[in-house]
Amino acid sequence: MEPLEKNINLTRIGAPKNAILERAEEVADSQLPIQWKIFPYAVFLLLLSGLFSSWKFITSSYNINAFSLSTIIILSLCLLFSVAILILLVVFVRSYVSVLKTTKTMFFQDQMFSLILEGGKDAIWDWDMEKNKIYFSPQWNDMFGYRKTGMSDNPSDWLAIIHPDDVASFQQDLTIHLEKRNSAFHSEHRVRTVSGDYKWVVDRGHAVWNKSGKVLRLAGATSDISNVKEVEAVLQGKTEELERANEVVKQEKVKYEALLTSIGDGMIAVNQDGQIMVMNPQAGKMLGRNVSWALGKFITEVISLEQNDKEEPLALGDRPVMKTLVQGIRIETVSYLFSADGTKFPASVTSAPIFLEERLIGAIVVFRDITHEKEVDKSKTEFVSLASHQLRTPLSAIRWYSEMLNTEKLGPLNEQQKSYMQEIYDSNRHMIELVNSLLNVSRIDLGTFAVEPVPTSFRDIAESVLKELVVKIQESEMHVTASYDDTIPKVNADPKLVRIIFQNLLSNAIKYTKKGGQVSLSLTKDDMNIFIKVSDSGVGIPVAVQDKMFTKLFRADNARIVESEGTGLGLYIVKAVVEKGGGKVWFDSVENKGTTFYVTMPLSGMKQVSGAKDLA
Ligand code: ADP
Repeated sequence: MEPLEKNINLTRIGAPKNAILERAEEVADSQLPIQWKIFPYAVFLLLLSGLFSSWKFITSSYNINAFSLSTIIILSLCLLFSVAILILLVVFVRSYVSVLKTTKTMFFQDQMFSLILEGGKDAIWDWDMEKNKIYFSPQWNDMFGYRKTGMSDNPSDWLAIIHPDDVASFQQDLTIHLEKRNSAFHSEHRVRTVSGDYKWVVDRGHAVWNKSGKVLRLAGATSDISNVKEVEAVLQGKTEELERANEVVKQEKVKYEALLTSIGDGMIAVNQDGQIMVMNPQAGKMLGRNVSWALGKFITEVISLEQNDKEEPLALGDRPVMKTLVQGIRIETVSYLFSADGTKFPASVTSAPIFLEERLIGAIVVFRDITHEKEVDKSKTEFVSLASHQLRTPLSAIRWYSEMLNTEKLGPLNEQQKSYMQEIYDSNRHMIELVNSLLNVSRIDLGTFAVEPVPTSFRDIAESVLKELVVKIQESEMHVTASYDDTIPKVNADPKLVRIIFQNLLSNAIKYTKKGGQVSLSLTKDDMNIFIKVSDSGVGIPVAVQDKMFTKLFRADNARIVESEGTGLGLYIVKAVVEKGGGKVWFDSVENKGTTFYVTMPLSGMKQVSGAKDLA
């Protein structure tokens, strides 16, 4: 491989082919010995001078005419001789050209090979099996850091720098190829660099055998595959990780499927657009739908909803799942759901958002058929209704008789008897209130209370309620003020229901305000509504319990302290009555400062609900 060093200027990567050829010719010419180059000219000159001297010699020594017979014979012989010499010369020139061509070709191939060696990334090695020596290209030496020292040409030194764990497989690969059991030598192994690290490489090569099958040489290339191995190792790690994760996912999936199948509630998972991704068999059963039919459909197509107690379809934006998907909040509600065959059933519906790294990706809707609970509730309410109704008659009798005794028309009572009678009378009154409240609540819950609107003056009712409360107001030294907008017309409303509103709000304001406090009532209106506002400077409602104010039987702890008597049913009844009348009720309150309740009732009046029972 000497030319590589000599003609290093040619071995740069990317030299054009014709440049190489030109240079190859030059070098081939320069490499031809000078004797070879001048030899044909010398022979030609010799031939010419021979011919000329023969001509001169013959004509002068024999003194013959230039064109005598003997001259012609001699000249012919000389000509024959010259032709023979010329033929020899032609043969020589042809072999000379052939040698020149071969030299050029060899040089060209040598240069190309050098270029490939220098330009290619692969490191080349060539193992001469006869001499048992290995040539390693500069790239090979560079690859392992042997450029300075040069790698030894002893094959056993090569074997010595192969990783001990890979020697056996390397030798096996070698044997397989040398025994012609495969078409090319291929071995992946680690080779030690000068610094002592190991590099993963792949050796690919080919052996040359002579006719008798003896191996003459094995030549090939070494490629650095450390990066590939690193990537392989990372990939292997990742693959194992993925396999493990996949296994976990599979197990989780099986668990979830078992869980979903076994729960009695219907469960539907939707994506962010509201399309059904998962639906358990129970949901399919309750909705009378095939699960595979429902998958991918919008939940709004699959479930029809009616608002609890209102026989009209729930607006899209009010549907629990929509609220969850839009606002990302959990919704719990009771609605009526429809099965595919049109059957309606009450259900408790919970819709919860699904977040992935704080991003809302869908919702889970769980619903339970509460037909049975509703029936049980209904029977309980019916029982309460019946029981309280039945209790009213004996309680009225007790009230009547205790009033009679209190008048002392049947005989005088001593002080102790009077005090006991008063106790009986107060307890009886309290029981009547409780029983009336229970009866009202049961009628509200059963939806059986009547609304009989007649032209009603809200002011008259408010004043009459305040009159009824005069004793209490005086006892508690309350400062009560009332203001009325004179322009408020009579409104079509059920006076009993309006009375219930004033009674509860005003009596609460008095009850929950300490002695000497202030209570104010105002009645105003705008184009659409009448506004009732009842304010007090009482104990207020703690923030923590404000959301429970209108629920059944709820009483705040601070209220119990100032007033032990109470049913916790008044505000529940007020809310039901106001909403039945088409109005709204709410409040503002600051603990220990006071409370204001607001009620709106439409000037257009209440709608009649007939055929049902009155509230007491
Ligand atoms: P009751 O007054 O019989 O307890 P209500 O349903 O009328 O039942 O009221 C429920 C609860 O609401 C009361 O127990 C009390 O805690 C609170 N509350 C109602 N009105 C007021 C008010 N004006 N000031 C403070 N708390 C009030």
